[in-house]
Amino acid sequence: MISNFKDLGVSDGIIKAMKEMGWTEPTPVQAESIPTGLTGCDMFAQAQTGTGKTGAYGSIALGLTKPGRKDPSVLVLVPTRELANQIYDEMYKLSKYTGHRSAVVYGGVGIEKQIGKLRKGTDIVIATPGRLKDLIGRNEANLSRISMVVLDEADRMLDMGFAKDLNFILGRVPSGRQTLLFSATMSPDVKKLADRMLKTPKDVIVSKDEVTAGLIKQSYIGVTKDTKQKELRMILDSGVSKTIVFCKTKRRVNQLSRNLASDYRVGAIHGDVAQNKRERTVKEFKAGTIEVLIATDIAARGLDIEGVDCAVNYDMPNDPETYMHRIGRTGRAGRDGMSVTFVLDEEKRDFMLVEKHVGMKIPVLDVRSARYEGSAAAKGVSGRNPIS
Ligand code: AMP
Repeated sequence: MISNFKDLGVSDGIIKAMKEMGWTEPTPVQAESIPTGLTGCDMFAQAQTGTGKTGAYGSIALGLTKPGRKDPSVLVLVPTRELANQIYDEMYKLSKYTGHRSAVVYGGVGIEKQIGKLRKGTDIVIATPGRLKDLIGRNEANLSRISMVVLDEADRMLDMGFAKDLNFILGRVPSGRQTLLFSATMSPDVKKLADRMLKTPKDVIVSKDEVTAGLIKQSYIGVTKDTKQKELRMILDSGVSKTIVFCKTKRRVNQLSRNLASDYRVGAIHGDVAQNKRERTVKEFKAGTIEVLIATDIAARGLDIEGVDCAVNYDMPNDPETYMHRIGRTGRAGRDGMSVTFVLDEEKRDFMLVEKHVGMKIPVLDVRSARYEGSAAAKGVSGRNPIS
């Protein structure tokens, strides 16, 4: 595989920005998709968050479009505001030397500022479907010059009920455009969307091994409802600093964060937490002011938080895809991380599906492992609860 950006066709200005971002070599998804995308063809890429996919389509977009137009050339559609902001930050850095301007639009905040930004002119628009539809309805988003559309986390957009909005928006973009679809999974719905929106696409599939096993040390613990919190505290006390804990409901997020708040610096995010509060919490987590972030799936979706040590599935994810998304918070490109899944007796079967999906047997959390050793071993944690 090609191991430098220049040979993939990335221009010098972008490479210079990448160097400043600390990127020295392409991730597998970048190596696979950049040369293909730069030929101008449509693409279906199966890749999770954490694989470097933003850098992949960002390089393609910056490479194929000229900066300085009044109306945007590139449209990136994403499911959540958090992901939109994260992509905006990354595009801002990547385009430092190319001169492309980006604007980000999403719901839940005032629309006026966003309108102002669009009126000033932008090359790239990063948008959640609902807000963009609103802006189109007000005649504030002119998509007639779009030459590239990126559907990022397409599976999640469909899960969140954006299918109609996507149809509406894509109906207003020139049909001769290039379309790049990124999805963590290849569900029948995603396949249908791809069939409708893509023209003779090239497939890019980054193998699961490359995405997970290499970078994330996955493990599990057999638990009961009563031992979950004790086990979590054990992990938190073992010296892992930045930890994301996933719960299945807003209520459980609130409950757990209340319980932990006296002993740890905890932040909670879920759908009922106001957008600006969520953003502040993520900032504090990034800065290290908060050490434990407790979240539901939707809220944590697409968050780009660097240097996450550990993802804990306090409640089992609903399906293997969600599992992949959750543990994708750690082990980000070039760095390693760990994940621990709490498994109740009655969840063993679901957990086996997860193992099947990741293509490996996930080991029980090893108390002797480098990270966990410290205080856990010292406290005499032994009799783990392996699943037979
Ligand atoms: P993404 O999958 O786009 O969410 O990217 C995950 C993380 O990897 C982000 O923090 C990126 O800045 C980072 N990243 C992307 N490409 C590279 C690379 N080639 N080398 C190092 N880090 C990267």
